[in-house]
Amino acid sequence: MDGQPFNTPVEYLKGVGTVRADALKKELSIKTFEDLLLHFPFRHIDRTRFYKIREIQPDLPYVQVIARVIHKELLGEKHTRRMVAQVQDDTGVMELVWFQGIKWVEKNLIPGKAYILFGKPGLFNGKAQMSHPEFDLYGTEAAQRKGNMALQPVYSSTEKLKQFTLDSKGLQKLIAGLLERHVRDIHENLPLYIINKFNLLGRADAYRNIHFPDDAATLAEAKHRLKFEELFFLQLKLLKNKLLRVQKFKGNIFDKVGPYFNEFYHNRLPFELTNSQKKVLKEIRQDTQRGVQMNRLLQGDVGSGKTVVALMSMLIAIDNGFQTCIMAPTEILANQHYQTIKSLVGDNFVEVALLTGSTKPKDRKILHEKLENGELKILIGTHALIEDKVQYKNLGLVVIDEQHRFGVEQRAKLWRKNAVPPHILVMTATPIPRTLAMTLYGDLDISIIDELPAGRKPIKTIHFYENSRLRMFGFMKEEIARGRQIYIVYPLIQESEKLDLKNLMDGFEAISREFPLPQYRLSVVYGKIKAADKEFEMQRFVKGETQIMVATTVIEVGVNVPNASVMIIENAERFGLSQLHQLRGRVGRGAEQSYCILMSKEKLSPEGRIRLNTMVKTNNGFEIAETDLRLRGPGNIEGTQQSGLLDLKVADLTTDQDLLMQARKCVEDIFAADPQLTLPENQLLNLAFQAKNAGLSWDKIS
Ligand code: ADP
Ligand code: MG
Repeated sequence: MDGQPFNTPVEYLKGVGTVRADALKKELSIKTFEDLLLHFPFRHIDRTRFYKIREIQPDLPYVQVIARVIHKELLGEKHTRRMVAQVQDDTGVMELVWFQGIKWVEKNLIPGKAYILFGKPGLFNGKAQMSHPEFDLYGTEAAQRKGNMALQPVYSSTEKLKQFTLDSKGLQKLIAGLLERHVRDIHENLPLYIINKFNLLGRADAYRNIHFPDDAATLAEAKHRLKFEELFFLQLKLLKNKLLRVQKFKGNIFDKVGPYFNEFYHNRLPFELTNSQKKVLKEIRQDTQRGVQMNRLLQGDVGSGKTVVALMSMLIAIDNGFQTCIMAPTEILANQHYQTIKSLVGDNFVEVALLTGSTKPKDRKILHEKLENGELKILIGTHALIEDKVQYKNLGLVVIDEQHRFGVEQRAKLWRKNAVPPHILVMTATPIPRTLAMTLYGDLDISIIDELPAGRKPIKTIHFYENSRLRMFGFMKEEIARGRQIYIVYPLIQESEKLDLKNLMDGFEAISREFPLPQYRLSVVYGKIKAADKEFEMQRFVKGETQIMVATTVIEVGVNVPNASVMIIENAERFGLSQLHQLRGRVGRGAEQSYCILMSKEKLSPEGRIRLNTMVKTNNGFEIAETDLRLRGPGNIEGTQQSGLLDLKVADLTTDQDLLMQARKCVEDIFAADPQLTLPENQLLNLAFQAKNAGLSWDKIS
């Protein structure tokens, strides 16, 4: 919030004190008035509706009942001691029970009188029951007042807090008190023209209504306003960072296209670029001529041809006198890039070198020298290539593969590699829904390759149950007879490696029986086998010496066998969507029709069914990512786990995509018109920056 009084430690709030403050801090991380205000209810209870006893079912939420007390008595001894009462309305009888606060109940619950009872109903021995209900004498002022509070907030609490009478009701009291005293101190932080344009509720009203709504419509408006505010300031921060970066960091200028690019383009590129590839190259060309450092994210499905685009950008850098590198997250991937790039550039052209953790010291020394004197122009490797001891003469462009495994610090390290920081192109084959990308990579520019090279046949995906296994075997035999190769993948779940291995081995045995030597030859690869053996098995498959590769998900990345046209995924229901999609991407790399067969048990969870149906329905990685986001929520999407950016208080990137787009657009327009936020109507925004804004700690974002 805006400083005082919301920075005040919560212990100074009336009704809190040191002991409860301590509990609030430990249990809910509520330290200040602000934290308490931001402890939003997770739902509201409709207090305008009254239930009849006959309507009571155990799965109802908190409800209200008007009933007359017909009897009450104390039962039990010591810890079983309880107050039990019977109440009645014109439809039936209900039992009430209290284990705590018995004295108070004894005094205030009077047989013969009617009460408004409020609590979570249940059934006990088939009879309606409520434990620890709130009760107010029917027709009194207190009851009236509660009746007026149409929607009552329900707050999350903990067992521990309940001991300090800080259950939902206790928290409600504290927050009501806080609002009563300080609602006037909640200042507007959005300029009037934005409030008007988007028809937003005022800020103080929004906070009051998100806790204690006047009615359902206003509650919705309050949520809308606070969500907008949250997304707006997040985007403001991200885009401001981007602006600052543009101002602060000069960029190398690649203004000419020279012999390296031309030689490759005219004499070595073995195919026509897709329109998507051309579009992205153009975007990169524009970025690298402006004198501003490029930070671009290149998203594209497996096989969409990102590598060529990266290589061609690198050749332009080289034409302008710079060195380049590609950084991959694993040695296998670095190796694969190395092979791919080498075969793309061909012989007698430009030197390509590989640097990883296993590069021998002797070779390393030579590499270091060639990097320092500028002789080596293309280096491919793992993190090893950004170690401090690796010095470049003039590093102009860095390509990072699979961004999500690289942290912000590593990116920062790269920036320091040169007086003018190198341009950065991040490639990812894990499509991220637009909304997530805009938040996670809000300060990057985004390029998308959304078409596959011409002539590729879309992979056909089929879902089989166990009872179709023989059919599947038959299909495999047909494909092998056609000269194709096949992957069979088993799930790997870290917690139970033994079981996984057993699965794989049982499967392997069954397959060996069905596909006997000498007609058929199998490879098997899993996590635990020695690297050399793995390599050997892989190579046999790559060379076409074996027709079937039985593996765990170790093959997910790093294998490229164009002749393999069938991917069979066992226990497919146990894989996540993005993993299924990645696995499927291992086939469909050649000219033949490829297939993906998802084997699953008959009984699927609703989510499992959606996942498999989605796979059957579409090959589009972005569509799959959207579904994944809906199923799992933003925090669980691959690559987002560590990001504090997704800890949103009110907004939800899954459901508030439109609002995010609005907020983003709004911020873009503001910066376009007033990059320094100096116009009088934008003063509030400047202030908000300095004040650290509500519900959002700026330090998380960098
Ligand atoms: P990605 O890195 O996006 O998964 P790659 O760059 O490895 O994809 O490309 C996959 C395959 O498609 C490679 O064999 C590559 O040579 C080939 N390829 C790339 N672009 C084209 C194109 N425009 N036309 C035909 N084949 C292409
Ligand atoms: Mg690739």
